[in-house]
Parts: sequence; C-alpha cells; structure tokens
Amino acid sequence: MRGVVLLDRDGVLNDVVIDPEHGTVDSPLHISQVRVYPWVSKSIRSLNDLGYAVSIVTNQPAFAKGKTTRANLEAVHRAVIDEAQSSGGRIFSSHICWHQSEDRCTCRKPQPGMLEDALTAFQHINRDQCWMVGDGVTDVQAGQKAGTLTAFLGPRKCDACKVFELEGLCPTLWARNLQDFVVCFEGFQSDKSI
Ligand SMILES: [Mg+2]
Repeated sequence: MRGVVLLDRDGVLNDVVIDPEHGTVDSPLHISQVRVYPWVSKSIRSLNDLGYAVSIVTNQPAFAKGKTTRANLEAVHRAVIDEAQSSGGRIFSSHICWHQSEDRCTCRKPQPGMLEDALTAFQHINRDQCWMVGDGVTDVQAGQKAGTLTAFLGPRKCDACKVFELEGLCPTLWARNLQDFVVCFEGFQSDKSI
C-alpha cells in the first residue's frame, strides 16, 4: 500500500440533490435520489491499482436536522458504495458524521476527526502519502488539519475560490471531478518520483 485517498461523498461520488422548492442543495435523502457519477467505479479501481486504499469521510446531518430517517441515509450510503465498487475497486472503510454544526462535535468536517479515524488503520503511512479529496472548502480545511495533501473538485471560477483566497488555503491539486483527479494524481505521483 503506497498511500490512502480519503473521499468526500456528495458531489464527489454521487450527485447532490436540488430542492426545487427552496433552491437548496442537499445530500440524497432517499435511495431513489442516488445518482452515482458514471466515472466513479473505474476511478476507484484505478486508485486501488495505483496502490492507494480508498475510504469515504462524509458529513450527513439530514437525520439530525429531521429531514429523513437514519435508515434512509444508511440505505443511500450502501447504494453509493455498491455502485462505487462495481468495477472491482474497493472502498476500504466509511466514516460518517451524523451531527449538525450546532453539536460542536470533533468529527464533522472541517474538523479532522473522521480523517483521523480513517487513517488509524494506516499509521505506517506518512501523511504526505494521504489525500483528502472533496468538493467543499471544509474538505480542504479538514485535510490540512489532518496534515494530508488535498484536492478540490470543482470549477476554478466558483464561490469556493473566494473563500480559499480569504482563508489563505491552497489545495494541492484542483480537478473538475474524480476522474480528472485520477489523471492529475498520476501526473503528480510521477513528477514526485523524477
Ligand atoms: Mg461534498
């Protein structure tokens, strides 16, 4: 095992859900809303083939906010994992924070608690061989707190850019989506080994 890639889930593995009534973006709240991006299972397989274990670290506050049941959220998560593993890649572990921000827990990103949990199984691997990959500013913040490399997935002209600038944050890599990340990641690895 060369390293570990920690993946945010919503917006990285599966599409987010837009609430047409309120115009807000949410996680899938029911299995019928799960839409895993078509490139995900192959991307995970590629990361495994490159020698990287893949784990998921995801904030899922919808049950705590009273929007759906915990069973629904667990069914959603299982469906995402099944699809993500469907090309023979493996998700090593999943770490879910069920709290909302008011709970002031240590696991909810941008706190690094879930990342630390996920990396417990890989104590022999240096943090500079570990990545946090997500489509949110909080993913990059959590990765920096845990001392991993970070990748931000999303357009370069986005609201997050302003926040990165204000907070003095700079992701190690910037990619459009997980498939694009794998390509950048392979380039990054080979640059380092020159
Ligand atoms: Mg996300």
